[in-house]
Amino acid sequence: MELFKVLDQMEHEEVVFCNDKEAGLKAIIAVHNTNLGPALGGCRMWSYATEEDAVRDVLRLSRGMTYKNAMMELPLGGGKSVIIGDPRKAKSEKLFRAFGKFVNSLGGKYITAEDVGTCPEDMKYVAMETSYVAGLDGKSGDPSPITAKGVFLGIKACSEWLFGQSDIKDVVVAVQGLGHVGMSLAGLLYEAGARLIVTDIYEDRVKEAEKKFNAKVVSADEIYDVECDVFSPCALGAVINENTVERLKCKIIAGAANNQLKDESFAQKLSERDILYAPDYVINGGGVINVSIEVSGIPYSMEVVEQKLQIIPTRLKEVFNMAKEKGITTAKAADMIAESKFKKKG
Ligand code: NAD
Repeated sequence: MELFKVLDQMEHEEVVFCNDKEAGLKAIIAVHNTNLGPALGGCRMWSYATEEDAVRDVLRLSRGMTYKNAMMELPLGGGKSVIIGDPRKAKSEKLFRAFGKFVNSLGGKYITAEDVGTCPEDMKYVAMETSYVAGLDGKSGDPSPITAKGVFLGIKACSEWLFGQSDIKDVVVAVQGLGHVGMSLAGLLYEAGARLIVTDIYEDRVKEAEKKFNAKVVSADEIYDVECDVFSPCALGAVINENTVERLKCKIIAGAANNQLKDESFAQKLSERDILYAPDYVINGGGVINVSIEVSGIPYSMEVVEQKLQIIPTRLKEVFNMAKEKGITTAKAADMIAESKFKKKG
């Protein structure tokens, strides 16, 4: 990879390679853009196949955070970090304290939090070395239920746009992934009267959803073929790709997963198929809204969270309107709105 060429293309400000042999730490911190404030974004721990995969992931995720934070009207820039290692085997106090020291050395330019492979317990060790960490237990805590709430509000906004009503009673939603966000979302949808089709790679999770929410269970691959109103990806990225896009029988795609489209060309393909796509970094912004309250120092309460979450349906409607008016994809419209907020003029 020609790193500086990629950094130019993706417009990153700073990338820090963190190496602490004694602690076994190999991490990368990417600060994408700080025009709106310090770069906030979680720390992912993953056993990447290659170092290049780790670099690509942190660059893509940190850029996404700039767009997400701008869209949520937060006084924050975008950043992200990755620790290279197996989260089931390589975690230790020493590792996370070493990571915390690197975060601290950036003097507040980057604020970390939990992400895939890390949890509030790990962040407790990070916090021993730096105050630039959020999402701690006893403060804003696990953001997943709030992310789910934001996605739920987003699905209602999509329904209102397409079907003329935000009431989702009897609307059929296919949820892919019943983890922290997916299971909470399934609960909210069920309570609102939606009918659920679900999948996960873990048997116990689908059994739980079947029992609690009367959900119809399908295999991990079948989820792309089911007749439904809404397909809600809540597992992995790049699920809208050349193998899946023609199979989808939904009218709306609205879920929590980051980077749902394999690349931008799939936004056009969805539009050609008359499928309304709720851009991922707009609909899944609830988690960062939750963490931002802790960072801002405002006393944390559900009332504040609920009020701030309203930006998700509002932004989605702006995106859909712009896409319709300009004849562009919803992904492009979201990018244009976000860039108008964080890019310096002139
Ligand atoms: P999680 O790891 O708790 O849940 C993911 C679930 O997906 C797991 O149950 C897993 O078994 C399942 N899964 C994995 N591969 C699958 C496959 N091929 N088919 C079906 N199911 C599969 O993660 P999470 O915290 O619930 O996050 C879900 C997604 O939302 C991730 O992409 C994450 O980046 C994104 N996201 C999460 C938050 C948050 O607050 N947690 C915020 C923004 C975005």
